[in-house]
Amino acid sequence: MTWRALTAALPSPWTTRFAPAPTGRLHLGHVLNAIYVWGIARAHGGRVVLRIEDHDRARCRPEYEVALLHDLAWLGFEPDTLAPPQRDRGARYDQALAALSADGLVYACDCSRRTIAADAPDVPNAELRYDGRCRNHNRGEAATLAQRVRMDDGTESFDDLLLGPQVGAPSLQCGDFLIRDRLGQWTYQFAVTVDDLDQRIDLVIRGEDLLSSTSRQLRLARLLGRVEPSRFLHHPLLRHPDGAKLSKSRGDSGIAELRDAGRSAAEVIGLAASLGGLLGNAGAVTANDVTQFFAV
Ligand code: GLU
Repeated sequence: MTWRALTAALPSPWTTRFAPAPTGRLHLGHVLNAIYVWGIARAHGGRVVLRIEDHDRARCRPEYEVALLHDLAWLGFEPDTLAPPQRDRGARYDQALAALSADGLVYACDCSRRTIAADAPDVPNAELRYDGRCRNHNRGEAATLAQRVRMDDGTESFDDLLLGPQVGAPSLQCGDFLIRDRLGQWTYQFAVTVDDLDQRIDLVIRGEDLLSSTSRQLRLARLLGRVEPSRFLHHPLLRHPDGAKLSKSRGDSGIAELRDAGRSAAEVIGLAASLGGLLGNAGAVTANDVTQFFAV
């Protein structure tokens, strides 16, 4: 199918987002994601929202945020809109939690990861599923800051723009998941879903490592009142030619390091495109020219 056909069902204009977490420096994985986000948007009538995902207050650092914005600008990827960072969205998240609570969909839980894991079946590589044991404890908000949202049985289906039809059952996969943790921090799943709803994100473009999150985000969005669900596109992750996953520890993925070693922005984008399988050989590609990968 052509990119034109894949994006044809989206509203005009449509909105997507680039949503890095300032928990470290920008690396080639981010650049590949930026290529998809800006490339598809610029080629097919989309607008790009830049959103700083700093919900994890313990791991995010202001200096990473500054560096991230700097590196993105150096590469030449310019957003159309800046979304408020998640640290400024507490009142809205409180309100979303209250709305779910009013519908009887959230409950307090003070189970630790360790207690949950202790009773979980030992399935290799399976995600830890919460069995809902605090569902009927009626602790109220005061007992603990951690809050879970109910995931009743049933499946969520969506048609991934690249991967085709997908189906997931959140109740089997993760069970009732945390929307706020024991420290009072909003979780990734919750913050991203409220933000995608409020910022009217029509198409979420992200790496395949987040594919398993999508069915629960679709469910949560509906519980929060979203009528027209977002569409999703999960793209392949970066690989070394030898098949290994790219990692910072191999010392080859940081944008600042590549820049310091004398690579131009276009060379860095070309490198990410080739490691992501979009380009046969690493060449130089400017941010404006990433549309070439998605033109038809
Ligand atoms: N903030 C996430 C990350 O940096 C991306 C979230 C998403 O695209 O849903 O990995």
